[in-house]
Amino acid sequence: MKIAVAGTGYVGLVTGVCLASKGHQVTCVDVDEKKVEIMRQGISPIYEPGLDELMQQNMLRLTFTVDYESAYKDAQVIFIGVGTPEKKDGSANLSYVYKVVEQIAESVERECVVVVKSTVPIGTNDKIETYMIEHLKNNVRVHIASNPEFLAQGTAVHDTLHASRIVIGAESDYAKTVLEKVYENFEAPKVITNRRSAEMIKYASNDFLALKISYVNEIANLCEIVGADIEDVTRGMGFDARIGDKFLNSGIGYGGSCFPKDTKALSWLASFNDNEIKTIKAAIEVNENQKFKLIKKARKYYEDFSGLTVAVLGLTFKPGTDDLREAPSLVNIPIMLEDGARVKAWDPVGVQNYKKIYPEEIEYCDSIQETLENADICFIFTEWPEVKQLDVMVYKALMRHPIILDGRNCYKLDAFANSGIIYDSIGRETIG
Ligand code: NAD
Repeated sequence: MKIAVAGTGYVGLVTGVCLASKGHQVTCVDVDEKKVEIMRQGISPIYEPGLDELMQQNMLRLTFTVDYESAYKDAQVIFIGVGTPEKKDGSANLSYVYKVVEQIAESVERECVVVVKSTVPIGTNDKIETYMIEHLKNNVRVHIASNPEFLAQGTAVHDTLHASRIVIGAESDYAKTVLEKVYENFEAPKVITNRRSAEMIKYASNDFLALKISYVNEIANLCEIVGADIEDVTRGMGFDARIGDKFLNSGIGYGGSCFPKDTKALSWLASFNDNEIKTIKAAIEVNENQKFKLIKKARKYYEDFSGLTVAVLGLTFKPGTDDLREAPSLVNIPIMLEDGARVKAWDPVGVQNYKKIYPEEIEYCDSIQETLENADICFIFTEWPEVKQLDVMVYKALMRHPIILDGRNCYKLDAFANSGIIYDSIGRETIG
C-alpha cells in the first residue's frame, strides 16, 4: 500500500521502517530538514537498536521528505506520529497533531484513512474528523482512525514487529478494512473497537504501568524502614500470575516522554470532566518524590556536595535509548552543580544530547573507570549493562571515597560483603 507517516521520531520512524519491511511503500515526512537529510543516507537520527539495519534493508521502499504535499496527496493511508507533549496545566499539547491535520486537509486528492498514532486525549479523533470535514480543500472522503502505539524505546523495532496487540479504533468499515490490510502481515492480536475506546486503551495502559512502578517504589521505601528486601519481595509477588513478574523494578522513578505526560494528561482530562482519578494522582506524586530519593540518601554521607567530585553513571531515562526526556538525572545533577560539586558523567549514548543542555558544566568521560577516578560519591541513574557487569571492586580501587548510591539496584548485596564500599540502593539494606 502507499503509506505516508508524519513525524520521524521514535514512533513515526520505527512505524515507517517496519511498515516498509512488510512490503508497503512508505514516505516519511518531517519538518526537520537535517533529520531528513540524514535518513536519506539510510541512517537513523535516533538511537534505537536494529533500526539502522532495517532501514538500510528497505531503502527501496522508503522515501524521506519535508514536502508533505507530495507525500499526502495520493497516499492511501497517512499515519500521524508527531509529539503530544505536556502543557503547563498537564493537558496534552495537540498543536503538532493539528498542524499535520491542517497539512493533510490541504493536500489530499483521494479517499484515504488518516491514522492517529500519537497519544491523544479521548475525543480527539472525533474533533479531528470535524476539523477535516470543514477544512478539506478537495472533495474527497477522509476517514479518521485511532491506532495507538505501545512500543517501548530501546526495544521499539522488536515491539513493532512482534506487537503485544494492535488496537484499531474506527467508525467506518472502510477504515477498518484498510487498517486490517495494512497490518495483515503482522502477527499480533487485533483489538478492533471504536475511536474513543482505542484512545482510552492507550492512556489506561500507560497509566497502569506508571501506577505499578509507583506502587513498587512505595513498597520499596517501606522495605527500607521495616527491614525487608524489595528484590525478594517483588520476586515473591511476581510468581502470582495475576500480578506478573514484569515491571516490578523499584528505583528512582519513571521518566521518558510518555509516562510522566500521559499520567498528567489523563488526570487533567478527568478533572476537566468533573471527575478524579485518585490512583493516578497518587502515582504522579510518588514519582515526583522518588526522583530525589538518592539526593536525600546522599545527605547522610555529606552535608552538601561543595568541593566534592561526584561520579554519575547513566544520564538517559532508561537503558537502550538516547532520550533524556524527564530523565531523573536532569533533576539531580542541577542540585549537585548548584552545591558546587565537580560532576563527572558517563553514558554510552546520551552524552551528545546532554551536551546540548550542559555543554561545559559537566566533565563527560569516555569510560566508567575514568568517571570513578577520585570520586567522593557515585550516583547510578541508569541500569546500562556496562554498569551492571562492572566488578564492584573497581569502585573500591578508583574512588577516593567508595560510596555508591544505586537508583536502579544494579548489584546483588552479596557482592559488597567485606568490600569496604558503602552501597546504598532502593528498598534494601545499606551495606557498609
Ligand atoms: P518525537 O518527539 O520523538 O518525534 C516527533 C517528530 O515529529 C519530530 O521528528 C518532529 O520534527 C516531527 N514533526 C513535528 N511536526 C511535524 C509536522 N508538521 N510534520 C511532520 N513531522 C513533524 O515523538 P515520539 O516520541 O515519537 O512520540 C510521538 C507520539 O507517539 C507521542 O504522542 C507519544 O506520546 C506517542 N508514543 C511515544 C512512544 C515513545 O516511546 N516515544 C511510545 C508510544 C507512543
